[in-house]
Amino acid sequence: MSRDIKSMYPEEVKELVLEKGLPAFRAKQLYEWIHTRQAAGYEEMTNLPAKLRADLAEEYPLVTAKTVDRQISAIDGTQKYLFEMPDGCLVESVFMRYRFGNSVCISSQVGCRMGCSFCASTLHGLVRSLSASEMLEQIYAIIRETKETVSHVVVMGMGEPLDNYDNLIRFIHLLTGPEGLNLSQRSVTVSTCGIVPNIYRLAEEGFHITLALSLHAATDEQRRQIMPIANRYTIGELMEACGVYYEKTGRQITFEYSLIRGVNDSSEDARGLTRLAKPLKAHINLIPVNPVRERGYEHPDRTHVLAFKKELENNGVNVSIRRALGVDIEGACGQLRNRYVR
Ligand code: SAH
Repeated sequence: MSRDIKSMYPEEVKELVLEKGLPAFRAKQLYEWIHTRQAAGYEEMTNLPAKLRADLAEEYPLVTAKTVDRQISAIDGTQKYLFEMPDGCLVESVFMRYRFGNSVCISSQVGCRMGCSFCASTLHGLVRSLSASEMLEQIYAIIRETKETVSHVVVMGMGEPLDNYDNLIRFIHLLTGPEGLNLSQRSVTVSTCGIVPNIYRLAEEGFHITLALSLHAATDEQRRQIMPIANRYTIGELMEACGVYYEKTGRQITFEYSLIRGVNDSSEDARGLTRLAKPLKAHINLIPVNPVRERGYEHPDRTHVLAFKKELENNGVNVSIRRALGVDIEGACGQLRNRYVR
């Protein structure tokens, strides 16, 4: 059995407690300290005997995220965190305030191997996947630091969540389980570049989470130019998988579409996008591409973005423009970490 107690389900913590010959209620206390109160260490668990705390710290060290850097946007208060995991790996997370509540954007991997040409997270490849506890810890550490509540979680930071499938599923169960933070599944969004077999698997999990698909192009040819994953799965295969996801879960799918000047921002692109979105009743989220120093892309100017949006609206598509938060603190995925890795 793993020693990562923060990644354990309630029944696994119970098993551990019983194996140690302890009374069952200790399991409930432990789980509550770890997940409801987001304890940073066993020393905080004052209703447990000191000897037990010392033993557990030895046998089941708590995975904690150490804050290495924090940048706060002067414009909108968005906070970007750089966390160090127990093995020294660095990951980024973002805390955002919306009218509907506070939201945390977490990373699912250290680096990424998907190779999207506009994305900073993938520049140095994949280092490793994150455990369920390391995904939770990004949220817990932010709750500890801000002393605020978190009602929404988006898995849209570094990494490809569906390339870390088992840990992602465990993470969602722990995050939305009644014994833990108890977030509503409707407030959890998982964003994927489109690993088709795992979209089908996710559709079978019985979750009510939102699936966001990073589409970014309306034709295979165009998509292949910016996203290597498009060589593995066609847009047709993707749409079929999304259709099944929608059917099984009843959850409206979001298409993310990063607008890149001169690449995917024409009228023809808007029409292609309409043809894809309509049968699925998908919501389109337009993201003017965040220029990354290492990449040559630029976003269209504001009037062009608005015209692109208008065109989709006129076609009867449900569309919004992602509010740009934290533009002054390198809000785009992987940028803060890259500065450190450099
Ligand atoms: N791997 C997942 C989640 C991480 S990226 C995915 O591909 O969906 C979260 C979103 O930000 C994706 O839609 C991604 O394509 C987009 N993104 C990455 N770099 C960006 C940039 N420089 N500007 C705008 N959007 C970007």
